[in-house]
Amino acid sequence: MEDAEEKCDDCEGVGTVECKDCDGKGVIEKDCEECEGEGHSESGTPCLECDGEGSIEGQCEKCTGDGKVECQTCHGTGEPFPSTDKTMTTKL
Ligand SMILES: [Zn+2]
Ligand SMILES: [Zn+2]
Ligand SMILES: [Zn+2]
Repeated sequence: MEDAEEKCDDCEGVGTVECKDCDGKGVIEKDCEECEGEGHSESGTPCLECDGEGSIEGQCEKCTGDGKVECQTCHGTGEPFPSTDKTMTTKL
């Protein structure tokens, strides 16, 4: 039983959280720019860029493909809050 350690609730002390933009996958589905999401060109030929899917997978810009982003609650430290007055009390 050693769970007395204080850690950030949001990231469980890891310092990173799952990227919400891509659900932690690191890739995100975007509309194909080549066919504007149609999956085929104006003449009806299947788009080669997206294989006729209309969407392509690209790297998530938010997490740059990591699937994880820095925890905003602890700013990546994993601590519940910036260490203030645990051992030292600094007064101005
Ligand atoms: Zn396309
Ligand atoms: Zn992401
Ligand atoms: Zn955190």
